[in-house]
Amino acid sequence: MRLMILVSACLLGVNCRYDGGNCRDRDVIQFLKEQNERFIPICPEQLGGLPTPREPSKLPEGGEEVIAGQGNVTMKDKGDVTSNFLKGAEEASKLAESFDVDRAILKEGSPSCGVRKFAKNYEDKGKGSGVTAALLIEKGLDVISEKDI
Ligand code: SF4
Repeated sequence: MRLMILVSACLLGVNCRYDGGNCRDRDVIQFLKEQNERFIPICPEQLGGLPTPREPSKLPEGGEEVIAGQGNVTMKDKGDVTSNFLKGAEEASKLAESFDVDRAILKEGSPSCGVRKFAKNYEDKGKGSGVTAALLIEKGLDVISEKDI
């Protein structure tokens, strides 16, 4: 049986980014087409109930700490949005379980999707994963970023 891939929707050109834009990545799109991959586009921040556009978020610790209950995510206008980030991660994880997803291609540098780097703020990149990436890794998915394609 062919398995499924979760893909950050902004990499596919969906305008779900915090500023209302996208991060369309030609290499990711070409890879999905050439490999004839089955995939599900996700935007964990929208799945978590946040609007688009929205303020950029701050993740002082890593996503690993947030899913362990030891960190939080904040937005300038909304304050603590940790529950939104956790909900988005859980919804993505639910899709992964329902559709036998074994891999994810997520947007590097995002506090939700970042695989090796999350954005402490948009000037200062930290180390660690975003909240959704951390949960999917914990669930055993092979999680890579657009930079690995
Ligand atoms: Fe893209 Fe993920 Fe940010 Fe949504 S949460 S805009 S999919 S990086």
